[in-house]
Amino acid sequence: MTRLFGTNGIRGIVNQEMNNELALGIGKAWGTYLKQTITRPKLAIGTDARLSNSMLKYAITAGLLSTGCDVIDVGLVPTPTLQYTIKEKKFDSGVIITASHNPPQFNGIKGAASDGTEFSKDVEEAIEKIYFSRQYSLATWRDVGTYSSWDGAIDSYIKGILSTVDVTLIKKQKFHVVLDCGNGAGSLVAPILLRKLGCEVTELYCEPDGRFPGHNSEPIPENLTTLLKTVHEAGASFGIAQDGDADRAIFVDENGTYIWGDKSLSLVGKYITGKKKGGVVVTPVTTSTCFEDVIRENGGSVIYTKVGSPVVARVMKEKNAVFGGEENGGLIFPEFQYCRDSAMSLAKILEILAKEKRSLSELIAEIPSYEMYKTKIACPNDKKERVMDLVVEQVKGNKDVTNIDRTDGVKLYVKGGWVLMRPSGTEPIFRLFVEAKEKQRAEQLVTTYKNLVESFLQHV
Ligand code: MG
Repeated sequence: MTRLFGTNGIRGIVNQEMNNELALGIGKAWGTYLKQTITRPKLAIGTDARLSNSMLKYAITAGLLSTGCDVIDVGLVPTPTLQYTIKEKKFDSGVIITASHNPPQFNGIKGAASDGTEFSKDVEEAIEKIYFSRQYSLATWRDVGTYSSWDGAIDSYIKGILSTVDVTLIKKQKFHVVLDCGNGAGSLVAPILLRKLGCEVTELYCEPDGRFPGHNSEPIPENLTTLLKTVHEAGASFGIAQDGDADRAIFVDENGTYIWGDKSLSLVGKYITGKKKGGVVVTPVTTSTCFEDVIRENGGSVIYTKVGSPVVARVMKEKNAVFGGEENGGLIFPEFQYCRDSAMSLAKILEILAKEKRSLSELIAEIPSYEMYKTKIACPNDKKERVMDLVVEQVKGNKDVTNIDRTDGVKLYVKGGWVLMRPSGTEPIFRLFVEAKEKQRAEQLVTTYKNLVESFLQHV
């Protein structure tokens, strides 16, 4: 079956693959799906700051209303704000119109279940099936859904965050934070949250603007040059950048040094497992070993999952995990909600700094460092399975390989590191991830495994 949903919802270029007809059809399919088990489903809908948001929001809303669902519009909000609203206000489901960190010409549709978690693959597939079959259950004229709006989502979400951290302690420290919302949806929450936490705030690109005039909305170092410079020059406590829909956060230390997501994930994981004296944490197989190192030191354990935040969140819930997240700045705090949340990450970093009374650079320096390499290997989609099987056969009995893990692609634990080959779901490539303590060893592993895959490719 053709797939519409990717790792994080449906994405595409506006008025090309992401158009009103698609949104309308998805709305009808979604409503039909919900009506299989709920008589009168109630959904929340929200958007990020993109220019095509109203267009897609009203198209999908029309589809939902036609099947007899009631839709409550919460307006322009970060993705985690919508997810929190669904859970707190007991909606049956939620729709967010967002393309996260993608370039401005993109937009997307993402779904959440009644507990606020992102849709699982099963639900997405069920909706897709209805969409492609066009077997919609439309309501009679009497039962068409109602549309209304509610403007309390941001307030209630900020209150929720403040109730989970030590506000008094944070306020005392009078932190100075440089905040880069990248003209995204985070602009509506993070400045308010920081002031409520007694911080002095230097704002960069904190006006929502779907053209992203400040910089591209992926929080990678090359997009954050102004933030890095400003933190250092202003003598601020630290800096933070959010992606377009504010589920992910990247931090910058007081010297203006970019902190990779693995390190911030580890810092928070270390703090939480330290406080709880252990516990289960969850992360995808791509995360650096530095995370496992700090968790184990505190008596905790790590469960590795496939890549994708919906999977991480679900496993966290199942295993009653104390913390989890991804190496791209997507941190999940189960005491608040089971989804990535940049504002909650910000509040937690402030609490850590306030408790530890040390600078962010000092705390990050205590997290172990590894050399990680990421590269791509071209491979036709129909050969991916066979190539992975051949790699597994080849390394069996190899003394250098201590464990073979098939959670997502092939992960080989080797002496002093690991090698992960992951077939891309969208492109004819493998992503090769290699990590080792020593640079030389990591480079050697990249060469060895790249050559191995390429030699198999000539024969399959
Ligand atoms: Mg995002």
